[in-house]
Amino acid sequence: MKLPPFDYRAPRSMDEVLSLLAEHGGDAKVIAGGQSLVPLLALRMARPAVVVDIGRVPGLGELEVDDGTVVAGAMTREHAAETSPLVRQHVPLLADAMPLIGHPAIRCRGTVGGTIAHADPAAEAPAVALALDAEIVARSAARGTRTIAAAEFFQGFLTTALEEDEAVTQVRFPIAAPRTGGCFDEVARRHGDFAIAGVATQVRLDEHGRIEDARIVLIGVSDVPLRRSKAEQLLRGQVPTAAVFDAAADAAAADLAPAPDLHGSSAYRVHLARVVVRRALDKAAQRAETA
Ligand SMILES: Cc1cc2nc3c(=O)[nH]c(=O)nc-3n(C[C@H](O)[C@H](O)[C@H](O)COP(=O)(O)OP(=O)(O)OC[C@H]3O[C@@H](n4cnc5c(N)ncnc54)[C@H](O)[C@@H]3O)c2cc1C
Repeated sequence: MKLPPFDYRAPRSMDEVLSLLAEHGGDAKVIAGGQSLVPLLALRMARPAVVVDIGRVPGLGELEVDDGTVVAGAMTREHAAETSPLVRQHVPLLADAMPLIGHPAIRCRGTVGGTIAHADPAAEAPAVALALDAEIVARSAARGTRTIAAAEFFQGFLTTALEEDEAVTQVRFPIAAPRTGGCFDEVARRHGDFAIAGVATQVRLDEHGRIEDARIVLIGVSDVPLRRSKAEQLLRGQVPTAAVFDAAADAAAADLAPAPDLHGSSAYRVHLARVVVRRALDKAAQRAETA
């Protein structure tokens, strides 16, 4: 399907990006990798008058360590995060999640900032950001830079805390402590499809092998990535055993009410949520033992 007409702008600096967003407000849309925006345009689910391409702004595609975090510039390609030794070493949960996004061609174009800003409830990166207490750095011409906790950022279906005149410039992922293991697991109809249900888990063990901290965030079962705090609480202080993980998986899948669609009924999604949590906890704990 042909795209609707729009004015395409490709500024060379962040200041220019921000002044275009300030000028056009809700009539402007940032384009990063285009892997979600272009389909939205084709389907007429987005009708911006102006599309602002941030791909030519220097310095937005860097991955670096800063102050206990791995900082992904907004234009960091998903493929770059997937293959980065820095990410593999310091944010293993993100490295685990990246290959589950679509297909290689999509990850070579799609960006970390784009998938976070797009906030699809079945997307992997927002769940990782929420599980790890990542921070999203946003800038606007009027108010400068602000940092938004992932817990505040994802507000609804394709809806975030970003204002119309703001752009994401960085996503900051905390570096995993020693004895921390992560696992992203999901079920999709075909490899590369969006997950029907999935989970980001991370487990940190203390020196006695007990679970010091645990994170569980589900995707595909709500209109936002869903943190399962009660299940996490059940895990803290426990020796990682099958019974403990069974109880946590039950708690993680309790009280869910996902909407049914052509990929699965509500009950099927709840069932899958329990299955992936159970599997992922096992793997995360195993990885924590050797981390
Ligand atoms: C066939 C197919 C399969 C896919 N499968 C998956 C999957 O399994 N899992 C998954 O997570 N994703 C999947 N995707 C989406 C992919 O990950 C996208 O790359 C991602 O969602 C958006 O990143 P982008 O850089 O392409 O953003 P764009 O498409 O350029 O933008 C998406 C939205 O975010 C906004 N935006 C982008 N960057 C910024 C910024 N810096 N500041 C403010 N707003 C911004 C745009 O205005 C737009 O509203 C799939 C896409 C396709 C086409």
